[in-house]
Amino acid sequence: MAGYFEEMGWTPLGNAETPNHLMQMARFLRDSGMWELLGEHEKLPPPASKAAVENLDEITFEDNTDTKRQCPICLRDFEKGNIAKSLPCKHTFHKECIEPWLEKTNSCPLCRYELPTDDEDYECYRKEKKRAVEREKDLETLHDSMFS
Ligand SMILES: [Zn+2]
Ligand SMILES: [Zn+2]
Repeated sequence: MAGYFEEMGWTPLGNAETPNHLMQMARFLRDSGMWELLGEHEKLPPPASKAAVENLDEITFEDNTDTKRQCPICLRDFEKGNIAKSLPCKHTFHKECIEPWLEKTNSCPLCRYELPTDDEDYECYRKEKKRAVEREKDLETLHDSMFS
């Protein structure tokens, strides 16, 4: 195989060199307008509202019975005296681990359960999305009642 590439005048990349696939990919994405879409998609939802965070269940570990459980963010066991916050989805994290997270984005790091935010635009978008899902369900129900 090496002979073929040599005949073609191609030289393999040196160890320090990296293929420029990524550059080409980036250019392609930009030219096709996908870049913006991707950016949109990767944007994190806004932070959880302060009130929602304050209202989360707070647990103080009184003894070591619960130490088999780990905090999914720092991967340390919950220990006696640790204060944890429990999200409505029942996922539990150290208070000091989950609070900085929720200041950045409103969803559970494990299951993406979304807490309310203070961002009006985002709340509108969320309601709209929910409504779209419900419309979809209505159509299914309608379809089922007509064809079954
Ligand atoms: Zn933690
Ligand atoms: Zn969760």
